[in-house]
Amino acid sequence: MLGSMRLSIAGVCGVLLSCSGAPVPAASADKEGPADVPGAHVVVLGSGTPVADPDRAGPSTAIVVGDVGLVFDAGANVLRRLEAASGRHPALAPERVTRVFLTHLHSDHVLGLDELLAGAWVLGRDTPLQVCTPPGTRELVDGLRAAYADDRRVRTEGLEGLEDRGSEVAVREVSPGLVLRSPGRDGVEVRAFAVPHGSWSAAYGYVVEAGGRRIVISGDTAASEAVVEACDGCDVLVHEVCSGAGLRRLGEGARAYHGSFHTTARELGGLALRARPGRLVLTHILFFGEREASIAAEVREGGYEGELFVAWDLAGY
Ligand SMILES: [Zn+2]
Ligand SMILES: [Zn+2]
Repeated sequence: MLGSMRLSIAGVCGVLLSCSGAPVPAASADKEGPADVPGAHVVVLGSGTPVADPDRAGPSTAIVVGDVGLVFDAGANVLRRLEAASGRHPALAPERVTRVFLTHLHSDHVLGLDELLAGAWVLGRDTPLQVCTPPGTRELVDGLRAAYADDRRVRTEGLEGLEDRGSEVAVREVSPGLVLRSPGRDGVEVRAFAVPHGSWSAAYGYVVEAGGRRIVISGDTAASEAVVEACDGCDVLVHEVCSGAGLRRLGEGARAYHGSFHTTARELGGLALRARPGRLVLTHILFFGEREASIAAEVREGGYEGELFVAWDLAGY
């Protein structure tokens, strides 16, 4: 149902004017995303946040090129979103996903990690899950593995007869730089870059080169030149965002917190103006009582005039 619902907010946004007086295209809130997606596909699995929005799963974005599906962050409900996306992209069938890249360890980004560890194994993954991540994740994964020890024992030693290998996990704690290069027809290159995310000692964005496209995923970040440099004319910039209008209604403490951890839509508009993405996709959307149209309008106020999408779960960009 999510994928088939359509809602145009062009009429709500209206047409903004650019500095030159030329009309700026309204943001699209088409729930399936644009029709023209060349090469590598960006599939937003979850466009949500810690807010338990039933229409927006926890943060997770997939990139699909041919038979390869990479998952960035594992928010709550990621397994069901992968299953839903696999109809259009078979590489995203839960049991076929073997590589996960984490941006940081805020709970909303890893609540679905055990879905991938334990859940996708039960669905048929027969090789270890490979987790590429900032430092500090090994402890989390070891804890999850310990919590599911009885589940593994019953499933491998009992009548279910699962092979243990698919339940294993290989954690690779990486520094910024090249973290994956896989050659071949569906070759992919992934680089991590550091972003400022409040008091986290390590938080990453990722640059993915695949299928002739360069795609940047910001992860959670305060407004940062690191994203401008990483994108620098990239094909797609998938960026977190929060409503500045909504933020202004919050208390002083919340404003200070979010200002240090996140990027307002207006700030993002200014960053994107200089980062020059071919396509800007807003995700991890902190609405604070606002709606898609007003957040898109704030991005326009920040100066960005290019292609703009407010992400919906399961839409491709
Ligand atoms: Zn988050
Ligand atoms: Zn975070």
